[in-house]
Amino acid sequence: MGAESSKKSSPKASAPTKVHIADQEITWTNWYQHVNWLNITLIVAIPIIGLYYSMYTPLYRKTAIWAVLYYFATGFGITAGYHRCWAHCSYTATLPLKIFLAAVGGGAVEGSIRWWSRDHRAHHRYTDTDKDPYSVRKGLLYSHLGWMVMKQNPKRIGRTDISDLNEDSVVVWQHKNYLTVVIFMGLIFPALVAGLGWGDYLGGFVYAGILRIFFVQQATFCVNSLAHWLGEQPFDDRNSPRDHIITALVTLGEGYHNFHHEFPSDYRNAIEWFQYDPTKWFIWTMKQLGLAYDLKQFRTNEIEKGRLQQQQKKLDRIRARLDWGIQLENLPVMEFEEFQEQARNGRALITVAGVVHDMTSFIKDHPGGKAMINSGIGKDATAMFNGGVYNHSNAAHNLLSNFRVAVIRGGCEVEIWKQAQRENKDVEAITDSTGAKIIRAGAQPTRLTVPFEAAPAS
Ligand SMILES: [Zn+2]
Ligand SMILES: [Zn+2]
Repeated sequence: MGAESSKKSSPKASAPTKVHIADQEITWTNWYQHVNWLNITLIVAIPIIGLYYSMYTPLYRKTAIWAVLYYFATGFGITAGYHRCWAHCSYTATLPLKIFLAAVGGGAVEGSIRWWSRDHRAHHRYTDTDKDPYSVRKGLLYSHLGWMVMKQNPKRIGRTDISDLNEDSVVVWQHKNYLTVVIFMGLIFPALVAGLGWGDYLGGFVYAGILRIFFVQQATFCVNSLAHWLGEQPFDDRNSPRDHIITALVTLGEGYHNFHHEFPSDYRNAIEWFQYDPTKWFIWTMKQLGLAYDLKQFRTNEIEKGRLQQQQKKLDRIRARLDWGIQLENLPVMEFEEFQEQARNGRALITVAGVVHDMTSFIKDHPGGKAMINSGIGKDATAMFNGGVYNHSNAAHNLLSNFRVAVIRGGCEVEIWKQAQRENKDVEAITDSTGAKIIRAGAQPTRLTVPFEAAPAS
């Protein structure tokens, strides 16, 4: 069997340097080696056993309440403890709070603080790349639990600095005694509370222990999957993190993940008072009780800058989809005499601010009537268009730009458009993030900054 499998595997696998199983192709003969059986037991098998036992275990009201309370406590162990305190150092916890968070966090059965935080820092540093241990680019299911139930090559996970965690005695102690912590806080403690409290050892074990582990695991796993898949991206859309109320409800407030990836050391995930972030409220309460201090918060000014830039990016995309007419620099140059000549020969050419427009197809649609537009043909209509006859709207200037056909060679005698040249076209063009020109309202080159005063007699 072994010889057969080595024959079938890739030539790399039989090379003297051992290739990690995760880097080998999954085949019918080696699939079981790809599976992380310990994690399968912890996150798949145990809940199935729990479900089986729940059919034979009555659920008492007190046990149900205790299971929910312990769900929140162990959930906060992960969100307020593992995540915001240790992985991101977004606040400082006093020793009693650290011990509490390390204990209940262990009860969530999601690995030690040290292991969890190292992976999470890699996730932030290398988001969506191969070095991201739970990259959503490998699929939603992979980011949810595939990364745990399938073996990963630890060398492929991005490197991060955890020297601060190695100096934290609570983290070190929890890592060394992890199995004891998991068994006691995950299963024994919830059973003891229900047993000593109201005599329901089995209910405590099944509901507040096993099934509660399942729910708290699935909830926090959603931060890696759902929070990178569902919702809005108000701060940056280059990577996958997203904000959504549903994810927030499921994950004790970790659902404002686009914000979190932009401002990871902020103790908040939700910045608005009406958004659901119980982890933030928990940390804030700990501060009021004197158990937490140095709560880190980004200035609103910084947050709003990010939000504005992302809005600008979205506007740029909309702008790029619109037709803004041929760019001035791409238009052919026409002598003024040639322009007059063509207009005499029946082409409805009108010059506004040195730009020649062919209005032939538009004459019948002109809101001001045919006669008005005809009176400008073959002429420099800069003044007429800009207040001499009618001070055209911004929309009219936009529309006019679609009819551009040429620009008049400089040095033309017409003084009025020279003025327009000075006012509009010598200004450096504003461009968006992609380098495309931005024409702001009222900034079409055909528009005079100071409208031409209509002669009282006209
Ligand atoms: Zn993330
Ligand atoms: Zn994070």
